[in-house]
Amino acid sequence: MSQVIARTDNAALPSVTVERGERAVFCGLTSIIWLHRRIQDAFFLVVGSRTCAHLLQSAAGVMIFAEPRFATAILGERDLAGMADCHEELDRVVSELLERRPDIRRLFLVGSCPSEVIKLDLANAAARLQGVHDNRLRISAFSGSGIETTFTQGEDQCLASMVPDLPEAPDATQRLMVVGTMADIVEEQFRRHFAQLGISEVDFFPAARADDLPVVGPGTRIILAQPYLSDTVSALLKRGAKLITAPYPLGIEGTLGWFQAAAAEWGRSAESVREALVIPIARAEKSLVKVRESLLGRSIHFLPDSQLEIPLARFLRDECGMLLTEVATPYLDQTLMAEELQRLGADVSVVEGSDLDSALARVRSHRPDLTVCGMGIANPLEAEGLRTKWSIELIFTPIQGFDQVADLAGLFARPLVRERKLEVGSWS
Ligand code: SF4
Repeated sequence: MSQVIARTDNAALPSVTVERGERAVFCGLTSIIWLHRRIQDAFFLVVGSRTCAHLLQSAAGVMIFAEPRFATAILGERDLAGMADCHEELDRVVSELLERRPDIRRLFLVGSCPSEVIKLDLANAAARLQGVHDNRLRISAFSGSGIETTFTQGEDQCLASMVPDLPEAPDATQRLMVVGTMADIVEEQFRRHFAQLGISEVDFFPAARADDLPVVGPGTRIILAQPYLSDTVSALLKRGAKLITAPYPLGIEGTLGWFQAAAAEWGRSAESVREALVIPIARAEKSLVKVRESLLGRSIHFLPDSQLEIPLARFLRDECGMLLTEVATPYLDQTLMAEELQRLGADVSVVEGSDLDSALARVRSHRPDLTVCGMGIANPLEAEGLRTKWSIELIFTPIQGFDQVADLAGLFARPLVRERKLEVGSWS
């Protein structure tokens, strides 16, 4: 079912069509794949079904090569009368796990879809287990259920579950907290840039070590590295932090605007930030020239999947010369996306939510050069002669910052270049 709503009176912003219907997006459990790489001494115990175990094993088997730091506790078919057994079973699994793995510093109990799991109160279970295993590690719970979460919302739920554990800041000294999982290499680059701007009080949340929890309080300024963190932001605001409105650090303009917004809180002018970062900006501009040739004038269509769609569309249009046919996103948080909507402007068709059939009908009628979508939708579209890009790849690849700009553009250029080679091949 589709309903057109002009979500804003501001003629400079895109109007938004809201759609509700069937969606085809991975569940929040998928976020464990990148979260467990980032928080290196954390363990994710999924309380779920065999389907959940299969999802993790197949996704992880394809995408990572690391010692597993996640597992699935499969609870059998039980009715409500068996709830005490469920809790006992969970306690037993956790005790065995912690005995075997003394290196674990943070345990996440991750909820899923089966009704017997939904009946379990995992937050309470986490609090009870924290009491038993006091001091040794921290235990929290979040939902990765496909009923409640998409794959990027899994990260939001995970980080929000950690916010109560963040220590209270001892005073109101201004500190910056960068929120959202990024690759280690991007964190290093960003730390260097912040140092160039004279901002040394910077924390990254989540950090690579589970014990490395940033302090939070009225002096905390939060800036988002990822746009899908609505619940985490709400939890941090309740702890007294202040949100910096900024674009996302994707592309040269997005990254520059992101640093300018952060530095403004430290009293630095936009122009002085541009001057301080002139070398990485020039390097990024140079690296983008070649990739841009493959994207210029080509059309792109975003199906709703990752919540990264709006900043990516802005980058691909403004810095790579692509034409946007439609930009759909599963959820649109107007506050977290304010700066990006402003930059996107009124001429773009934005859709919030998903109604798979009508979304696919529009792709077929536009026949864009490239469609960004979930893995399940890509194959049928490819079979119809349409080129696709899996949006989940954008989460697994370092794409933020100046030094990643060409790699980011390259992710979209590759299917188009491959197609051209095939065309040339078939005529030679
Ligand atoms: Fe498990 Fe539900 Fe995700 Fe399926 S959708 S893998 S049942 S959490």
